[in-house]
Amino acid sequence: MALQIADLSKRYSTGTEALRGVSLEIEAGEFFGLLGPNGAGKSTLIHCTTGLARPTAGTIRVFGHDAVEDGSEARLAVGLAPQDVNLDWFLTAAETLDYHAGYFGMPRRERRERTKELLDVFSLTAKKDESTRTLSGGMKRRLILARALMHRPRLLILDEPTAGVDVELRLELWQYVQRINAEGTTILLTTHYLEEAEQLCDRIAFINGGQIVAEGTSHDLAAEFGVASLEDAYLELVGRNELSRARIVDVAQ
Ligand code: ADP
Repeated sequence: MALQIADLSKRYSTGTEALRGVSLEIEAGEFFGLLGPNGAGKSTLIHCTTGLARPTAGTIRVFGHDAVEDGSEARLAVGLAPQDVNLDWFLTAAETLDYHAGYFGMPRRERRERTKELLDVFSLTAKKDESTRTLSGGMKRRLILARALMHRPRLLILDEPTAGVDVELRLELWQYVQRINAEGTTILLTTHYLEEAEQLCDRIAFINGGQIVAEGTSHDLAAEFGVASLEDAYLELVGRNELSRARIVDVAQ
């Protein structure tokens, strides 16, 4: 099992209950989508999984390692491509990858080889010595993905990787991610684009108000709610106001 979350709750010091008894299991090799509107608890779930936030109750296991008790092992197994473009503008593309792997304890020689390999995979070799600041939007996104993969995580978490990204780049990122998944990496994707989830994910969970409200293949979900599509199921659960935001075509314009 790649990710095993049981009865996870998170209450922030402000009193907000961001997660209320979430249980979720993701098999090794799966491409899993977590869908929900803003404020549903997606980022909180990711932060708890990656050790950036401490659960109030419940357990998280990443390939068997407890995210709290055995945090460093759990963190080694996870690569996170965050929603924000959080690159260090004072580093070059190559340094960004090298330093990240150094943080994970990868020896120098292996770091150099892995950096070279990923710069090549993500078509960034020609830009390796340029400051991250000067890269195009698409290159920055690709570098973030490469950085998340540097330490060869078995679980890759993608937090809204295509938010505000144009259609061409979105398709390109999808291709990379599908390839990584085909090569054996488990993927947890959070998105509010239904089309993205429907095309990429083996299974999907809807989260709303800090709770998992439905889970299954997009076909299962549509059948469960007696509707024709994933979009209709989402509408049933999350409401009409959110739907326009969840349509890629609307957002891309
Ligand atoms: P999502 O990623 O689905 O948009 P979040 O996990 O960011 O949802 O947020 C879930 C809820 O927790 C929201 O009500 C949000 O305002 C609140 N929240 C998120 N982070 C914090 C924080 N650091 N401190 C207090 N409240 C937070």
